[in-house]
Amino acid sequence: DLIFADSLSRLGTESAFSVLARAQGLAAKGHDIINLGIGQPDFPTPPHIVEAGIKALRDGHHGYTPANGLPALREAVADDLHKRHGTKVNPDHVVVVPGGKPTMFFAVLMFGQPGVEIMFPDPGFPIYESVIRYSGATAVPIRLHESDGFAFRADTVLEQITPRTRLIILNSPANPTGGVTPKAEFDKLVAGLEHHPHVTILSDEIYSQMLYDGRTHVSLLQYPEIRDRLIVLDGWSKTYAMTGWRLGFAVWPEAAVEHATRLAINCHSCVNASAQYAGIAALTGPQDAVHSMVAQFDTRRKIIVDGLNALPGVRCTNPGGAFYAFANIADTGLTSAQAQDLFLDKAGVATIAGTSFGAMGEGYLRFSYANSAENIQTALGRIAALL
Ligand code: PLP
Repeated sequence: DLIFADSLSRLGTESAFSVLARAQGLAAKGHDIINLGIGQPDFPTPPHIVEAGIKALRDGHHGYTPANGLPALREAVADDLHKRHGTKVNPDHVVVVPGGKPTMFFAVLMFGQPGVEIMFPDPGFPIYESVIRYSGATAVPIRLHESDGFAFRADTVLEQITPRTRLIILNSPANPTGGVTPKAEFDKLVAGLEHHPHVTILSDEIYSQMLYDGRTHVSLLQYPEIRDRLIVLDGWSKTYAMTGWRLGFAVWPEAAVEHATRLAINCHSCVNASAQYAGIAALTGPQDAVHSMVAQFDTRRKIIVDGLNALPGVRCTNPGGAFYAFANIADTGLTSAQAQDLFLDKAGVATIAGTSFGAMGEGYLRFSYANSAENIQTALGRIAALL
């Protein structure tokens, strides 16, 4: 028998991948499955970005690049953040990594160890809790409530800070809820953090461009008073429909850049060169495709929220961002896990149980509306018939 390290028993997973595998298995057997489980844009990467990646390969960019990313890409990131958030970022504080996830892993490994506490949103992206527990740190949930539109409350965060708190993970717009935290809560949080200088913040802003109803993104980069203890994670996966390219970045505090780069060298050396050239094209080229994708998500958002609210025993708050609807299914009498299995097996609709995103997710089901309006309508019709 293989004798694994104890730490492995603490590593969680992202069940979107197992639901995807089950949905694909059913589809392969001839079942007609509509996948509202996986959280990735259903659009192809815009053609000018694809061409830039191909050109980089044709031009011979086949070798290693600097571990922290191509200088031209890090400069493009800094320019883009300046344009979007009105804030200056030093390109030398940007570290490019393969997707959004490595930054989470690196940040948690940098601060997490037995005896320290790390806060994470619940319900929230499952990888946060998984890697916190893997590091040996204590995972402290920031409970989010439907009645707050799943925004976090500054007071909830501040009240839970102890001398052992090292890192607080925040995510707005949020997965799995689509919740957007208002600026007033960020203001209050930053003001409160002044009394807790031992705490670092990881702000996951991967959905920073997916906002609806005229909302503008609040980036923690807009608060210079915490810049020396702030990590901002963002990337290309969602904004440019590039989940499979594996390209992301973070802005690190000056004191952490060297550690992040060293973790990158130990882990993956660098991101593949062609993806980085594609990333430059994405940031510096036309943004129409982004606007058009967001407009389509917005149309689908209305369809799915209205449709869910029309189902017996189901209610759904209107998500302000991302591309998820987090429906309350408690009054159907089903648990999250039962609803997930029933909808997949009997209606051919893949969704994700709220409990996959933390204990607070019981009674909820996540629907990704990164699927066509037609498929969303068909899926809703099938669930209505079933219920
Ligand atoms: N952060 C959040 C909140 C996400 O929902 C996701 C993907 O689902 C990621 C990060 C990871 O993105 P990537 O695929 O670039 O690693």
